[in-house]
Amino acid sequence: MKAAVFLGKGTIETRELDIPALGEGEILIKVMACGICGTDVHIFHGSPGATEATVPVVLGHEFSGEVVECAPGTSRIKVGDKVTVDPNMYCGNCDYCLNGKKNYCPSMSAVGVNINGGFEAYCSVPEAQAILLSPDVDYEEAAMAEPVACCLRGIDNIGITQGDTVCIVGGGAIGQIMAQLARISGASKVVVSEPVEMRRELAISLGADAAIDPMAGDLKEQLQSATGKDYADVIIECVGRPVAVGQAVHIAGKGSKILLFSVPNPTDTFELPLIDIFQKELTIKGSFVNPDTQYRAAKLISEKRLNLKPLITHRYPTKQLEEAILKQMANDSVKVVVLPQQE
Ligand SMILES: [Zn+2]
Ligand SMILES: [Zn+2]
Repeated sequence: MKAAVFLGKGTIETRELDIPALGEGEILIKVMACGICGTDVHIFHGSPGATEATVPVVLGHEFSGEVVECAPGTSRIKVGDKVTVDPNMYCGNCDYCLNGKKNYCPSMSAVGVNINGGFEAYCSVPEAQAILLSPDVDYEEAAMAEPVACCLRGIDNIGITQGDTVCIVGGGAIGQIMAQLARISGASKVVVSEPVEMRRELAISLGADAAIDPMAGDLKEQLQSATGKDYADVIIECVGRPVAVGQAVHIAGKGSKILLFSVPNPTDTFELPLIDIFQKELTIKGSFVNPDTQYRAAKLISEKRLNLKPLITHRYPTKQLEEAILKQMANDSVKVVVLPQQE
């Protein structure tokens, strides 16, 4: 089978590998779609501080597929099931794992980072990592269960109250997912701030009430004309650059909550206006991975509560993974997926 093997910073090789042999309790998935994540981009470029990949390894942790084999010791998942994979595996024995905070586990490892993931035709995973999808689910949409799960963790962390005005800073794939989740969480207005026109139009077509351009003038004034007030109750930053954090803080009003969701450059810092935190009683929170949220993400996708298909702007076969990663970084893409069954 074809697999894209990551060998270290900047090097990916397409290789013929044997279809993985299953160990006890494992299942074999015919991978139908695997999304490119910002994390894959970081790993490919060897960015310091990003997740450490165990090379050589097949990357890809956002995937869906059909189960084609179940080893002895499995019971819940059957051959023919459509599944998505929660990539993150925890030790189960540390202070955090035992205390219900497993995403803080210092021994966390992941499918597609430390063991072979979805940029290959067939992938084996422990049954416990597989999450069942509905039989009629779209594989490409289902490949986004993992990013949706991460977004759910973020929304859980920051909390949206029905009637809140929510502003999403950044209209990439994550921003587009956040906008939809904010809407179904009961936001009265969802505004997306994004400099690229195609992404603003996409946000509007997927249900955002307004899309504003941070390069086109003061964001507070734009919010005022879009929503009738010059601040948002909840601001979700999905860009990963200090300038976007600055925009998020700028549009925070009294009592506002800011979720810094994106993965920053490890050396980035931001100078906080302390008087704002005091006088406005600001809440600023982070969010890390997807502890137990991918089950709900799979439900939302299976029940068609999200519209994810229009987020996919580019599709590539496995052998073009490097191109796909570069495209994920480009302004004319939103979500790029690899289709491992395509030649
Ligand atoms: Zn991801
Ligand atoms: Zn642990």
